[in-house]
Amino acid sequence: MGISLKLNDETEAIHGHDYHDEFGSRIPSIHLSAMFEQRGEANKSDRNVDLKYSREENPTVRYLEKVISKLEKAEDSLAFSSGMAAIASLYLNSLSSGDEAVVTCEAYGTTVKLLEYLSKFGVKAKIVLPSAEEIASAVTKDTKLVFVESMTNPTLKVIDLDHVKDSIKGKAEFVIDNTFLSPVLFKPIERGADAVIESLTKYISGHNDVIGGIIAGKKEKILQLWETRRMTGSILSPFNAYLTLRGLKTLYARIRIQQESSLKIAKYLLNNPKIEEVMYPCLESDPYYNLAKKYFNGCGGVISFKVKGGKEEAITVLKNLKLIIPSPSLGGTESIMTYPVLSASSSLNDDCKKKLGITENLLRLSVGLENPEDIISDLEEALSFI
Ligand code: PLP
Repeated sequence: MGISLKLNDETEAIHGHDYHDEFGSRIPSIHLSAMFEQRGEANKSDRNVDLKYSREENPTVRYLEKVISKLEKAEDSLAFSSGMAAIASLYLNSLSSGDEAVVTCEAYGTTVKLLEYLSKFGVKAKIVLPSAEEIASAVTKDTKLVFVESMTNPTLKVIDLDHVKDSIKGKAEFVIDNTFLSPVLFKPIERGADAVIESLTKYISGHNDVIGGIIAGKKEKILQLWETRRMTGSILSPFNAYLTLRGLKTLYARIRIQQESSLKIAKYLLNNPKIEEVMYPCLESDPYYNLAKKYFNGCGGVISFKVKGGKEEAITVLKNLKLIIPSPSLGGTESIMTYPVLSASSSLNDDCKKKLGITENLLRLSVGLENPEDIISDLEEALSFI
């Protein structure tokens, strides 16, 4: 029996899977079966697609999709084996030879690179600076997709999304990658996006032990993407769906703590004489403060900052960290520090890096759930070596 109360999202994150079985279990089962009985017509899942083979549809994955649809305020959603599998499926489904797609040059590097790769199939990638004006002037009658990140990676800029939406005038699909914020802090569909993508790998699963992705949007589009996912075999595994459902239960609590710690750490960095610049849009001194306030319920747990000096100083900090893990990724329980010019931003074009300030002294910190004083002590010690 489903819960008939109108629940808040924090509660939906815990109970929204609606799982019930004949034993009275309240934790969703991991359905490992690759196949399901089919004598004549296949059983149908609740979205009326065949439930016969786990490359196509799987009950555990479906519980996860139900929760995410509720949190994103979407008609339906579809889980993939990674954030990139979700993005690749969107590109494959939405773009044909002769179409143009606009993406900001500051975005996850592989998102941009994959779009450029599609030029071999006749798709034209328009890579523009992350501002509403630049995006608007790149949109033409051939544009079929406009893809932006709700907060850009790694310099944490905020684009005026209403302006972008208005400039598209419904002529192209508007898709927002919301990985840095999660539906806790921003719900792109409520703001007029056609679809939202999240790398589940980050805040949503939240424990640095899952790779996954999701697209949420209109039923019709999700059904088309379901066909793409079926053909490419890029569905999330049942075990990773289970881990993500488990992680989701603490998403709201984790984000609350992580952003509280982040504000404390950002203010510490702002006052450290070894630091040249701090980027965190919820700091009043940040140039994106007003836009962040307009769109988001908080700025999450990623802070970017520049150390005084260059590559040598930045690497010295990374080498001397004892608690914070020097590694790519973000959004988990463990704090992680990334060196963008050698990881996610390594493939961005030089002009873009220069204009946006993605420099060799830039570091990106994903604040975990450790006591913020311990994170600050680790930073203080590592910074003392430069
Ligand atoms: N989108 C953003 C903003 C990311 O940071 C990443 C990965 O870091 C991705 C998408 C890709 O997600 P995944 O690593 O799960 O494929």
